[in-house]
Amino acid sequence: MNSNYEKFKTHMRKIADLKYAASLLSWDQETYMPKAGAAFRGQQLATLAGLSHELFITDEFGELLHKLETEEGLSFVERKNVELTKKDFLRSKKYSEAFVIKAAQLTSASFNAWSNARAENNFKKFAPYLKQLVELKKEEATLLGYKESPYDALLDQFEPELTTAQLNVLFTDVRAQLVDFVKQISEKPELDNSFLFKHFDKQKQWNFSIDMLKKMGYDFNAGRQDYSPHPFTTSFSMQDVRVTTRGYENDLRPLLWGSLHEGGHALYEQGMPADEYGLPGSEAVSLGIHESQSRAWENLVGRSRSYWKANYNQLQNLFPENLKAITLDQFYKGINKVKPSFIRVEADELTYHFHIMIRFEIEKGLMEGEFEVDDLPQLWKEKYKSYLGIDVVDDANGVLQDIHWSHGSFGYFPTYSLGSFYAVQFFNKACEEIPNLISEMEQGNTSHLLLWLREKIHRHGRIFSAAELCKQITGEELNFKYFMQYARKKYSEIYDL
Ligand code: ZN
Repeated sequence: MNSNYEKFKTHMRKIADLKYAASLLSWDQETYMPKAGAAFRGQQLATLAGLSHELFITDEFGELLHKLETEEGLSFVERKNVELTKKDFLRSKKYSEAFVIKAAQLTSASFNAWSNARAENNFKKFAPYLKQLVELKKEEATLLGYKESPYDALLDQFEPELTTAQLNVLFTDVRAQLVDFVKQISEKPELDNSFLFKHFDKQKQWNFSIDMLKKMGYDFNAGRQDYSPHPFTTSFSMQDVRVTTRGYENDLRPLLWGSLHEGGHALYEQGMPADEYGLPGSEAVSLGIHESQSRAWENLVGRSRSYWKANYNQLQNLFPENLKAITLDQFYKGINKVKPSFIRVEADELTYHFHIMIRFEIEKGLMEGEFEVDDLPQLWKEKYKSYLGIDVVDDANGVLQDIHWSHGSFGYFPTYSLGSFYAVQFFNKACEEIPNLISEMEQGNTSHLLLWLREKIHRHGRIFSAAELCKQITGEELNFKYFMQYARKKYSEIYDL
């Protein structure tokens, strides 16, 4: 074994230990931490983040990376680990201490301003902070460097190598095809999903969600589920990957499909190779690929007729008072109801992408100087009217609904749509390569699908880029036409188009 590479691994694992310790503190903050713990918790997290950053950017580590770049005898994966770490190293070096401190202070103040502005339904209270955030992000783009659009530099943080130009093409397709298709659906009679909003005992929902997670292959010896206001998945290693969910007594959807969604993220993390702990070989490729895993389980599995053919009986028996009279067909249609609405996180599988398209257009416009922050409420209304055909009533249900900008996350939203589009392209391939996949799903067996995802995606960590992975698996680049074909087939049948 190469001794420089061993030194590299040891150092990376020390940094990973600090990062995962911080993740555990964050998980606790979102789930069980008593309220008064917040002040010092913030300090503890900042200390750990500072320590891991310092360890990562030392000159000594830089020299080690430099040596390893020309070292003979490294395997393909080892070479990739060095190459990707070098990229991260150079990026981290670009941030001055002054910039990091300014960013931390601004996002912390902005988050409070956003919470208050949303509670008071008043965009003007958030606008001054958003203006500073946009300036900060422009500064960050300049510091990181970009070829065409400053927005490229921000996208690259969440979806390496993705460009604004590529997204322009992708969303032009969405605009040209999906908007019209949803209009056609809107002209058909509305589907009834009122049975989803009866009274559902929360503990029973919880028990059902635990069962769903077990059935999909989520390993409870290497994870757990808890409640949190905003569902998320986090990991402290591939052997401790936790999910959270939220539930309501009068809405069956958030808990069940939330668990499936986060479960999909978690299966990805649990499927990373343990011997690559702390190295790019056990990290996710990108947010888009991460989201492809959650969307596959939430929508392609969890909103399919096949899945519910196997599982609906159990749900009916759990809630006979609400579901006894609802047939599988009615249930399937109800959980796939398409209806334009104001709130992104509550959107259906199709109109969801209009919410993302709008945020993409606005973020890009802000970064490229086409739009001003003060124009946003008006722009928001115009775009919702034009793509979704609805009149946004106020800022709380409009431009203030998402937390992302207050955190300084610009360039994050597009990865949600990418995830759905990747998911369909991958799932098509899985159906081709696993001949009985659909009939297995109808029997309640998704184990071959999981094995396939493990083999094709999970075990590689970050070794291949999203584009390389997509090409390896499907033989071509990401192509929106597969999502559109899927949408037309599924929803033409549901809506009798
Ligand atoms: Zn997700």
